[in-house]
Amino acid sequence: MWISEIMLQQTQVATVRDYFTRFVAAFPNVESLATSNETEVLRLWEGLGYYRRARQLHAAAMKVVEEHSGEFPHELDALQSLPGIGRYTAGAIASIAFNKRAPIVEANTVRLFSRLIGYTGETTSAAGQRTLWQFAEEILPQKDVARFNQALMELGSLVCTPAEPKCHECPLASVCAANAAGLQREIPAAKPKQTFTELREAAVVVRKNGSVLLRRCGEKERWAGLWDFPRFELEASGPLFAKREIAEKVAAQTGIACAPGSLFKTLRHGVTRFRITLDCYDAAYLEGRVRANESAEVRWQARSTLPQLPLSTTGRKIANLIRD
Ligand code: SF4
Repeated sequence: MWISEIMLQQTQVATVRDYFTRFVAAFPNVESLATSNETEVLRLWEGLGYYRRARQLHAAAMKVVEEHSGEFPHELDALQSLPGIGRYTAGAIASIAFNKRAPIVEANTVRLFSRLIGYTGETTSAAGQRTLWQFAEEILPQKDVARFNQALMELGSLVCTPAEPKCHECPLASVCAANAAGLQREIPAAKPKQTFTELREAAVVVRKNGSVLLRRCGEKERWAGLWDFPRFELEASGPLFAKREIAEKVAAQTGIACAPGSLFKTLRHGVTRFRITLDCYDAAYLEGRVRANESAEVRWQARSTLPQLPLSTTGRKIANLIRD
């Protein structure tokens, strides 16, 4: 349940299904995950996004083995002290897996609870979260919490639906404030619109014999822990200035002097609030030895071994483009 809860954060069930099957086949218990190396974990996670989840899962498994003798903790505090386990995941594991008296507030119950109590404020605000968690805690029964929490999530998902809630079928209709006031459409309040920032970046495939230059992204980078081609924001406009900037930035990131060649592909993708246009360039090795930059590792990697390495999403696309 822990693995599926982490995978389902920010990701749809249909996408998670195959990843989950492969992951639990590779790591059937917490010890096998704790003793694996991070590269293996990231390779199995590749394509699922939000890679911090995979690294935290691995770190949490090690902590469970070291501090809890390999037995998953049952209590909320101990669960929340594990990397990657927040209030919702801790509540879900404690109540559903261990039948502990712990509340759950997630997408479906946010909608259900805010309609039940007629909460018209912004549900993601601090005040909104406080109100909803407090309500979730107050209504908890003394026993059968696992069934109770699952029933609430199911009610939110199947009956108290976002657009057309089926109030005539709802067992809570007589105590629902939104139903009484006819405010089902207004509650929960619409989230503020996400604004996007456009970014232009370059990824560079520097070739040397049968190898390409790769760097393992540092802790504070977008793809922390994953391997990627040298990549950075591109400020120059026009191919001549772009090539000069690319050569300078590759050298700064890796210690390698290269001669940028053609732009062979432009990829467009989104990460959180960024919309990124990624120009992919070829480059030939000129001179220099690889040098790590800050926390990032740098190395030459045989092209034939790229399938075994955990790469960023766009890194994998580029690796597939240059495969032949
Ligand atoms: S009565 Fe309607 S709005 Fe209220 S909880 Fe039930 S389905 Fe949701």
